Amino acid sequence: MLNVPPQAFPAPRSQQRVAAGGRAKVPLKPGRSLMDWIRLTKSGKDLTGLKGRLTEVTEDELAKHNKKEDCWICIRGFVYNVTPYMEYHPGGEDELMKAAGTDGTDLFDQVHRWVNYESMLKECLVGRMAVKPVSAPKGMLPEKKILGASAKDLTPSYDWFQTDSLITIVIYTKQKNMNAELVIVDCQDKQLRGEIIVDDHSYLVEIGLDHAVQGDVAVNIAEKIGKVEITLKKKDNIHWKMLGQHLESHNTFIKRTDRGLFYRKCKLISKTEVTHDTKLLCLMLPESTHLHVPTGQHVYLKQIIAGTEVVKPYTPVLPFLPLDLKEPSRHDGAYIYLMIKIYSCGLFTQALDHLQIGDYISVSNPEGNFKKSQVQTSEDLFLLAAGTGFTPMVKLLSCALTEVSCLRTVKLIFFNKTEDDILWRNQLEQLALKDERFEVQFILSQPTKDWVGKQGKISLSLLSEFVKRSKKDSKVLICICGPTPFTEQGVQYLKDLGYSQEEIHAFTA
Ligand code: FAD
Ligand code: NAP
Repeated sequence: MLNVPPQAFPAPRSQQRVAAGGRAKVPLKPGRSLMDWIRLTKSGKDLTGLKGRLTEVTEDELAKHNKKEDCWICIRGFVYNVTPYMEYHPGGEDELMKAAGTDGTDLFDQVHRWVNYESMLKECLVGRMAVKPVSAPKGMLPEKKILGASAKDLTPSYDWFQTDSLITIVIYTKQKNMNAELVIVDCQDKQLRGEIIVDDHSYLVEIGLDHAVQGDVAVNIAEKIGKVEITLKKKDNIHWKMLGQHLESHNTFIKRTDRGLFYRKCKLISKTEVTHDTKLLCLMLPESTHLHVPTGQHVYLKQIIAGTEVVKPYTPVLPFLPLDLKEPSRHDGAYIYLMIKIYSCGLFTQALDHLQIGDYISVSNPEGNFKKSQVQTSEDLFLLAAGTGFTPMVKLLSCALTEVSCLRTVKLIFFNKTEDDILWRNQLEQLALKDERFEVQFILSQPTKDWVGKQGKISLSLLSEFVKRSKKDSKVLICICGPTPFTEQGVQYLKDLGYSQEEIHAFTA
């Protein structure tokens, strides 16, 4: 299977053109799209020039292949001939050439560690490095982090016990303030995977269970003492001699970014039109999954398109904007809602649009670097969104208006092309009427002549007009999300206006 990255390495600014996918892209020649690459890899053509032979590559040998017409790159100990891929790379040839004849692992990880290049470049595989290159490989090769003594003390531990009908796995996280968002549990085909997030680290219990269990999983969290109980129902009421076989990553405590993405299949429950091109998808998690996507984080969806695995990020929203904001909105965690714009030429969104109710799609664990604590102390919150860049603002808005007691103002400045493109306009206007702390401003870049509202694009003058502290020295948080150049320009303008790095959060991949 192939897992296809929209872009594996960043493009130089001078060449950047940004696609609706949000990443800077270099215009590709006709016949060099992602779909064309998939076709080429399936054509049976010898893409390595080695006639199907795999070879051991020394560092000296790797270094010799450093030209466009003969370019090898090492990623996580595997060497690929990327010459045939050059013209198909959305980030441009120059970006690929930065890693020519060397280990490109770090460069690759800086951009899209979630992209499954093994799959995408499978037909370009030359072989393995004879000697491991200096940059430590991740994921593919066994990697056990050696933790220092103090870190070891923080490593969670686990135990298990049973009754006639139940198996309970107890994880002692050694963390106060554990909560449901920090615990991700899946149990599929007798395999239990329980992940605990501790800051930027992840602890994993991963066991091939000794006996079968029933479908549902219960997770109980003693927040104050950091104890997590995962309870499984035995299929047969027999005594288990052992919990099961430890799988490869069992009992590891490593950096989150070093943990591969885990996917589970979710069922498409409904598709609702939001605008002419945007839909709200409701996905149901398996009953054996415990997963809550934190505010400001995204998940990856994975689909097989033309026999190839393709992965794209999406930011879960709420089913609607809650108007009764006295209480935090409660969701039982059984569903994930995604607001997705369907692009007429979009590879992934076209395939998504063709999913039928009842079909399944793979959904990853959440990722993202937004921390709720950033908003919890803010007095003025400004949300700058363009198009589907509105999606992270949905949960953020709900969280701010319900959970942040010191909040005085929340202002959403929502940039769209036309009136028809505005997502949840009605709900936003109702919310503004309902809660006097909230204000929404729609700005259109391509309005019809009937539009009486604000017109234009993100600019210094516009931001200086709309982003103002409610009082001198008030604590401000400004969140921004949209096409990459929109976000980058916005951040620059905000800095020019005197806002500090800590006061700005830009949502990116
Ligand atoms: P693509 O096939 O990538 O193409 C999209 C459009 O760009 C098409 O019109 C195509 O013609 C054009 N295009 C493609 N390649 C190029 C190129 N090289 N040069 C110029 N133009 C090109 N989207 C949402 O709708 N909702 C979300 O909640 C959401 N959350 C996201 C969260 C994150 C962290 C990020 C990074 C992105 C998010 N996105 C979201 C965007 C999403 O990941 C996809 O990029 C988007 O759905 C388009 O995917 P696609 O495969 O359909 O389009
Ligand atoms: P869109 O409809 O194409 O654009 C929305 C508005 O932004 C329009 O007014 C548009 O003006 C303006 N705009 C576009 N590019 C701009 C630029 N370079 N400078 C200033 N203004 C610009 O947007 P979309 O198709 O919904 O795309 C939304 C983007 O958000 C995607 O790229 C998606 O990847 C990204 N996104 C990111 C995240 C995340 O967490 N990182 C989450 C969700 C979405 P014009 O009339 O000039 O086009």
